[in-house]
Amino acid sequence: MNNQETNGEREEKEEAAEQSSMAASAMDGVAATALRSVLHRVQQAAERSGRRSDQIRILAVSKTKPVSLIREVYDAGHRFFGENYVQEIVEKAPQLPEDIEWHFIGNLQSNKVKPLLTGVPNLDMVESVDDVKIANHLDRAVANIGRKPLKVFVQVNTSGEVSKYGIDPSGCVELVKHVSLGCPNLQFCGLMTIGMLDYTSTPENFKTLANCRSEVCKALGIAEEQCELSMGMSGDFELAIEMGSTNVRIGSTIFGAREYPKKQSN
Ligand SMILES: *Cc1c(COP(=O)(O)O)cnc(C)c1O
Repeated sequence: MNNQETNGEREEKEEAAEQSSMAASAMDGVAATALRSVLHRVQQAAERSGRRSDQIRILAVSKTKPVSLIREVYDAGHRFFGENYVQEIVEKAPQLPEDIEWHFIGNLQSNKVKPLLTGVPNLDMVESVDDVKIANHLDRAVANIGRKPLKVFVQVNTSGEVSKYGIDPSGCVELVKHVSLGCPNLQFCGLMTIGMLDYTSTPENFKTLANCRSEVCKALGIAEEQCELSMGMSGDFELAIEMGSTNVRIGSTIFGAREYPKKQSN
């Protein structure tokens, strides 16, 4: 943040930004307007945490939402999108521009690794690596397909709830070591957490993830900047940013509430 900036100057700038975003939103659809408001809130939270907004990635989580709505957000200039279900991302990605950087953020089964990698050539990251087995599957599949190394986050279960997803914090360092040292086709980039299963993460969950990062960086001898934190969703992304998040995953605040069919299958 620029400390020389006076309050008056900052207010002027904010006003100008607001006016230009209002002018733009007059022509936008609902999702593009919502995106602009999220960008603004992220920028303010970034400033409160002493960072620039370009140090925080906003992943627009488009699960259950139609390609037309994703396109609207893309046309508003956004390039980072996230999906949870393999069947859904392999259906949508080919209908959308290739310069989208897709993140897969859902639970990944071994038998879905190959369809995911072949179906989404512009898959940038898998945020949900939570055991050695899935890491090995991804590593081998990347080699077999011959694509560039795949970026990954290790998913940590920080809420302590009995959940299928995410490794226990106590196993985090060991899994990260395996990914970094034993999976040459994967590029370890950081840690991810959902927090509570009902998506209402608490500050304790975010603190736990930050503690995991300290341990990981110490064990691997890397700087904290080399280990991202993916935390924060629609209900808590500003708090997450203030607590050090570099990657917020925002669905309903951008795309509107999700309507689920009776049964969600992968
Ligand atoms: C659905 C989902 C999100 C987005 O949730 P919202 O509350 O709609 O912002 C983020 N992360 C993961 C892992 C998700 O499954």
